[in-house]
Amino acid sequence: MAPQFEVPASDVIDWRRHIHAHPELSYKEHATSDFVMEKLTSFGLSPERPTETSVTVLIQGRGPGRTVALRADLDALPLQEETGDSFASTVDGVMHACGHDAHTAMLLGTARVLSGLTDSFDGAVKLIFQHAEETPPGGAKELVAQGVLEDVDAIFGVHMANQATGTISVRKGVTSTVAGGFFATIKGQGSHASMPQNGVDPVLVAAQVTVALNTIVSRSVAPDHMNVVNVGMIRAGEAPNVIPDTARIGVSMRTVGDEDWEVVRSRATDIVENTCAAYGATATFEWADGYPVIVNDDHVAQIGYDAAVQALGEDKVSWGPGTSASDDFAYFAREVPACFVFLGGGTAEDGLPYMNHHPKFDIKEEALEAGVRTEVQMALNYLAS
Ligand SMILES: [Zn+2]
Ligand SMILES: [Zn+2]
Repeated sequence: MAPQFEVPASDVIDWRRHIHAHPELSYKEHATSDFVMEKLTSFGLSPERPTETSVTVLIQGRGPGRTVALRADLDALPLQEETGDSFASTVDGVMHACGHDAHTAMLLGTARVLSGLTDSFDGAVKLIFQHAEETPPGGAKELVAQGVLEDVDAIFGVHMANQATGTISVRKGVTSTVAGGFFATIKGQGSHASMPQNGVDPVLVAAQVTVALNTIVSRSVAPDHMNVVNVGMIRAGEAPNVIPDTARIGVSMRTVGDEDWEVVRSRATDIVENTCAAYGATATFEWADGYPVIVNDDHVAQIGYDAAVQALGEDKVSWGPGTSASDDFAYFAREVPACFVFLGGGTAEDGLPYMNHHPKFDIKEEALEAGVRTEVQMALNYLAS
C-alpha cells in the first residue's frame, strides 16, 4: 500500500517567498544555505555542508536498500527584479529569476514529508541543495568531486518551466543542450593603410574567419541536429586609413549533444588558427565551455513519469520536448542514472508570459505543492522499484 502524505503547502509558499526576497548570487549562497540548514535541523534531520554554501542531508528509511537523490539549486541571477511582487527581491541587482527559490522551498517541503515517512520505505533519500548552478564551472561538478554521489544509485531533479501550472513534462534521453562559446583575439601587424604590404590585416582575417565559421553547421555536423554557431561580435580598428594590430571576435555555440560539441569546438579552433596562419596572423582564445547535455536514463525517466502520474493524475503529465537551455544537473546525470523533469509554473494564460531569466519571471505558487508531491513520489517509487 502506497503511503499517504500531506504536503505542508502554505509553509512551502512562505519559504519560497523568504528565499525569493533574499536572493544570493552563485558561490555566495550563505544566508540561503543557512536557512536550509536551519529548516532541515528543525525537522529532526542532520544536514551537512559539502562545500561552504551547499547542503546535503540523508533521510534513512526503515531498513537497508538503495539511495535515491533529489536535487535543488540555491543561487539567483544578476538581474534587477521587475515583478512588483510584495515579496520581491530586497537586494539591488539580484533576483531569483530561474525558479531556484521554488526548487529550494519544494525540496524543503519534500524533506519534511519524507522525514515523517521513514517507516514506509527501505533505503535512503539524499537531498542535495547545490550552490552555483548559474555560473560555470557550476556547483554540481564540485559536489560530484566531493563525492556526494558516491552512495547514490539514481538522481531526480525538478526545474520550473513556462508551462501549464502544476504540470510535469519528462523526456527520455537528451533533455537539454550544450551552450558555450569563445572570444578570439586575432593578432596581425598594424600599418598605414597606404602600405598594406608592411602589415598583416586582422580585419580581413576576422572577416575570413567569420565566413569560414559559418560552414561548420552546414558542412561538419548532421543537418537535422539544430546546432548553432553565431559570430555575434567583431571589434577592430579606430580609423579607416589605419590597419590595426588586432581584431577580436565573439562566438556563441549551442549543440544538441556532447559529441557535436566536440566536433564544433574542434572545427572552430582549426578554422580560427589555420585561417590566421594562412594570412600570417595568430590567435589567442578565451573559451567558455558550457555544461554538457543532460541525458535522462530511460528506466529512471519512466519511474519519474509514472510517479508524476500517481502524484498529480494522468492529465497533468506528458512526455515533453526537453529544453534548449542547459543546466549543470548534467554532471550528476553523468555519474548515476538520472531524470530531470520540468514543472509548470504558469503560462501567458495565467498572466505569466515571461521565460526564466527575465526580470518579470514569476510562478503560480499552486505549482509548489505539485512539485513536492511529485518529488516525494519519485523517491518512494524509485526505492520500491
Ligand atoms: Zn537559470
Ligand atoms: Zn535554473
